[in-house]
Amino acid sequence: MTNVISIVNQKGGVGKTTTTVNLSAFLAQLGKKVLVIDLDPQGNATSGYGFDKRKLDTSVYDLLVNEVPIADVIRSTNRENIDMCPTNINLAGAEVELVSAMSRETILKRAVDTISHNYDFILIDCPPSLGLLTLNALAASSDVIVPIQGEYYALEGLTQLVDTINLVRKHLNPTIGIFGVVITMFDGRTQLTRQVTEEVKKYFGDKVFDTVIPRNVRLAEAPSFGKTIAEYDPKSRGGHAYIELAQEVISRAKRTE
Ligand code: ATP
Ligand code: MG
Repeated sequence: MTNVISIVNQKGGVGKTTTTVNLSAFLAQLGKKVLVIDLDPQGNATSGYGFDKRKLDTSVYDLLVNEVPIADVIRSTNRENIDMCPTNINLAGAEVELVSAMSRETILKRAVDTISHNYDFILIDCPPSLGLLTLNALAASSDVIVPIQGEYYALEGLTQLVDTINLVRKHLNPTIGIFGVVITMFDGRTQLTRQVTEEVKKYFGDKVFDTVIPRNVRLAEAPSFGKTIAEYDPKSRGGHAYIELAQEVISRAKRTE
């Protein structure tokens, strides 16, 4: 069974894209066939994988708005085991253009269903909102991973996120579940981040991954070279953390098979 996982949190800058790019890179290195779908008009996962956003022949926008088959949007990343549906700022218009479209929440799902058998994991990088794009991601997904930044306001908005997932389960996608919660940008030296971690564990229990992603500048540098941490500096603390997360994701996926 293919795991279709949305990386979602409507809060901005919590590490969704960093997690999508680096988790996918290590899943691929561990032999899994992976597709990354960039569903954020900012296109950060697209450039993180080294694509030039100004030079895309087709993008996720065409898939959602122009009914271009997903096979014509999927690109090789020139890395083993990993393909991508890239995105650019055009996607920002989709939310408005699709207002009157039929079944507009399930366009992505219908596309993904036609190719999911080719992959072990499909990771969808979501924008920082709970609008139509994120609804399309959730409708298409078997699971979600929620990155949470270890900071004071970390839990703010999570109720709304969980409510949204519950609504999607009720109306669009009865089998969607929370695959895991990952704490990102962790700074173990502060009392505050340790407190936040405790709070997150109280709220999400054993959904919280054992792996914690530390704050590590190498993770922030890698995208400016169009590289994943697997290529840029796999031996960094950030690199170690994401390979550990990939291993944990694979073992959790086995348990749910
Ligand atoms: P958005 O909501 O805008 O899409 P996001 O949730 O995708 O943001 P990222 O883009 O992954 O968040 O991360 C926000 C910023 O923090 C980026 O500049 C990224 O390079 C940096 N960053 C992410 N994770 C880490 C980390 N563990 N250590 C250091 N910097 C990080
Ligand atoms: Mg992002």
